[in-house]
Amino acid sequence: MAHDYIIIGGGSAGCVLANRLSEDPSISVLLIEAGGPDTNMLFRMPAGFAKMTKGIASWGWSTVPQKHLNGRVIWYTQAKVVGGGSSINAQLYTRGNAKDYDAWVTEAGCEGWSYRDVLPYFKRSEDNQRLVNAYHGYGGPLGVSYPVNPLPISFAFLRAAQEAGIPFNDDFNGAVQDGIGHYQLTTRNAERSSTASAYLGPARSRQNLTVRLNTPTLKIRVENRRAVGVEVGISGGIETLRAEREVILSSGAIGSPRLLQLSGIGPADALAAAGVRVVHDLPGVGANMQDHLNLKTGPVTSTLFETGGFWYADREARSPDIQFHLGLGSGIEAGVAAMRNPGVTLNSAFLRPRSRGTVRLANADPAAAPLIDPNYWSDTYDRECSLKGLQLARDILSQPALRPFVLAERLPSDGIRSEEDLMEYAYRSCKTDHHPVGTCAMGSGENAVTTLDLKVRGMDGLRVVDASVMPFVPSCNTNASSSVANRCRRLFLTAKELLASRPTKEEEWMRLSSRSPARSGASHEL
Ligand SMILES: Cc1cc2nc3c(=O)[nH]c(=O)nc-3n(C[C@H](O)[C@H](O)[C@H](O)COP(=O)(O)OP(=O)(O)OC[C@H]3O[C@@H](n4cnc5c(N)ncnc54)[C@H](O)[C@@H]3O)c2cc1C
Repeated sequence: MAHDYIIIGGGSAGCVLANRLSEDPSISVLLIEAGGPDTNMLFRMPAGFAKMTKGIASWGWSTVPQKHLNGRVIWYTQAKVVGGGSSINAQLYTRGNAKDYDAWVTEAGCEGWSYRDVLPYFKRSEDNQRLVNAYHGYGGPLGVSYPVNPLPISFAFLRAAQEAGIPFNDDFNGAVQDGIGHYQLTTRNAERSSTASAYLGPARSRQNLTVRLNTPTLKIRVENRRAVGVEVGISGGIETLRAEREVILSSGAIGSPRLLQLSGIGPADALAAAGVRVVHDLPGVGANMQDHLNLKTGPVTSTLFETGGFWYADREARSPDIQFHLGLGSGIEAGVAAMRNPGVTLNSAFLRPRSRGTVRLANADPAAAPLIDPNYWSDTYDRECSLKGLQLARDILSQPALRPFVLAERLPSDGIRSEEDLMEYAYRSCKTDHHPVGTCAMGSGENAVTTLDLKVRGMDGLRVVDASVMPFVPSCNTNASSSVANRCRRLFLTAKELLASRPTKEEEWMRLSSRSPARSGASHEL
């Protein structure tokens, strides 16, 4: 049977799209997801994240040996379950800095994607438990809440950061991103609010929406440069499904360039090397990969993150370039053994890496793992800033407010002080922050993969809508921005959506009066 739209991947972006597109009963939508359902309670419980980086609901991929990290291979969790990353992530709700989106316009030519352009979509998606103002809204599908009963050590951490000179901030998604505080979380009534529960769930009963789980897409079918459908794996063979209007790729920053290349769309030389017939030579596919790398310090390592913030490694930086995540507990994240006296870990991630990596195919087999090469620290500036971030983390942990809680520093450990030793430690212990983007970047340059309305260049009937279209990684966790990746006004908007996306009265008033709600020095001016 043919559908108007086939969406490949029911993750953070795909579930939003499935909901928005199927709002119009006159069009039929098929959502295809390789992973299974999210019915296990672990997906619903916020602390279920503890199981998620160890392989549950994940593709089981790793990076290729990292040339600038002493050849280390890093475990690389990517979601394989309905809801995608939003079903397995740590639920931190951060949008980044206004200047991130403005840079998409000024540095990548993405007109129409400035902060002013995307803000209404963030607000519209949100059901904020506490905040209603120029930056936040309520009544949207996505639950956003503050942590329930943070532990005393979280408050001690906030005091310690202030002793170290970092101001308190109650809303990283508001007027100012700088500072330390409790994160907002994608939770509602103490349960995870994934895009599967927030967007797909309410749309599941629509007659015009079909959802197929446990169905990997093997290839996009192309006729005369037009995407006409997909081939999916089913028990005992392959099934072909037809799209009358468009195939929309929402398979994530690794999955989308992987599937394009499996379908013969990508750099001709890389396709030839993998033994794939070239359908459309598009050099930018799988290039421009960016990710955040985490370094850890603390008495022990852990996760369950609800406290942290944003500060500067490079004081000349346009906005905060380091993000902290305070982890509670131990042995929770992949690659870290449980310790006897669980304490805290302070992760620090450098937010605006200059290193660029790739996603390539090992061969033409759709079942083969891709070659993921974030190329971490290939630019020495990233290494310098990461190490400064680690120093900042140590500085916070050594403040008086945390003394009653910190018995000793186990990682890197007190003895490790020289830059050389710290680098050795970083090589051994760094990990991905799970924020890959940019591998099908939109833009107007020759390496752009999509146009500004997310159509694949040189093809008809094919779009990419997910984290891979972001030209630069935002200075934050990437779920919120992935979910609004479908904001493009010229994309599929029904009259109803156009109406809903008009500025609110408050926004209109602020625009007319040219007044910003931001404090002086604000980073999120409207
Ligand atoms: C462990 C982890 C922790 C994270 N923590 C946070 C956090 O706390 N806060 C935050 O903001 N961000 C976090 N992130 C990042 C954030 O979740 C991602 O940026 C976001 O989910 C990306 O959305 P996406 O739609 O691009 O891709 P995804 O959500 O990954 O969706 C892609 C979907 O496509 C499916 N797919 C792929 N290939 C195929 C195929 N061939 N056929 C069919 N289906 C396919 C996948 O199974 C997946 O469900 C985290 C990510 C991870 C992995």
